[in-house]
Amino acid sequence: LLLFILLMSAIAFYALGKYLNKYTAPTDTLRRAILKGDIIPYYQPVMDGRDNSIRGVEVLARWKQPDAGFISPSSFIPLAEKSGLIIPLTQSLMWQVVAHMNAITTLLPEGFHVGINFSAAHINAPSFVEDCLRYQAGFVNKQLTLVLEVTEREPLHVDDQLISNLNTLHANGFAIALDDFGTGYSGLSYLHDLNIDYIKIDHSFVGRVNEDEDSTKLLDCVLELARKLSLSIVAEGVETRAQLEYLNRNNIPLLQGYYFYKPVKFVELVKILLSKPKE
Ligand code: C2E
Ligand code: CA
Ligand code: CA
Ligand code: CA
Repeated sequence: LLLFILLMSAIAFYALGKYLNKYTAPTDTLRRAILKGDIIPYYQPVMDGRDNSIRGVEVLARWKQPDAGFISPSSFIPLAEKSGLIIPLTQSLMWQVVAHMNAITTLLPEGFHVGINFSAAHINAPSFVEDCLRYQAGFVNKQLTLVLEVTEREPLHVDDQLISNLNTLHANGFAIALDDFGTGYSGLSYLHDLNIDYIKIDHSFVGRVNEDEDSTKLLDCVLELARKLSLSIVAEGVETRAQLEYLNRNNIPLLQGYYFYKPVKFVELVKILLSKPKE
């Protein structure tokens, strides 16, 4: 009997170990990575397609792995959102961004956009407004346009708290961008209650544009909608000359995409800014 009990408990421990490994290990690894500063900001320039100048950057999280390589955010952001780690993760990015931008204040033209992505779980958190105000206070250069990118990829719980949080920040000088416009659940319903400054047209729309005339139909509609609502537009995922020309023809000045730059690490961003005449 004793042997049986021992054997059973060994099996139970083994199973429990497996279980913990499977369900808690990734969260612990992520928590440690945040603390160690292994989640770092990459920057993708936001361009003015008319004169090829850099109007700002979007911050995109990267997980730096010890043995070379980076993990893409689409694999760890959902984990961070589920585990609540999205808040410390984003806070850590915010402070890194402040330090980076403060180091290159003289390279940044007035009104330079600095956009960060925020998850619904963070926007709805009690600390959100304070986090953002402290972030804003950290910048030496007060002429930057701090953009809060809010995605509609996941349904936001648009309640009075969220609306008042975002509207408070808007009143304090933040710009609000609705990300992934056209892909989400209830994008249009947000527009009534929120002070949206920009919408970001998802690359799934931009990516369909090619030389074929019919290829722009869907994007034509999205742009028309945005215009009727008097929203400023940023187009994402610009990869080809044909896409650039289409967007130029349609007077969409703010563009992001591999056609111009991939997201780059801070030192690369500095090189890029140094190589461009300041506007
Ligand atoms: P997003 O906010 O829509 O960011 C744009 C994504 O498109 C980025 O993917 C970027 O690298 C990619 N991209 C840029 N130019 C092109 C292009 O020309 N072609 C194509 N095919 N893709 C392009 P990334 O960096 O993998 O990020 C994926 C998503 O993860 C982001 O989508 C955003 O929703 C989320 N994410 C990234 N960083 C953060 C973060 O710090 N916090 C939160 N909450 N979400 C983040
Ligand atoms: Ca974004
Ligand atoms: Ca987007
Ligand atoms: Ca997207």
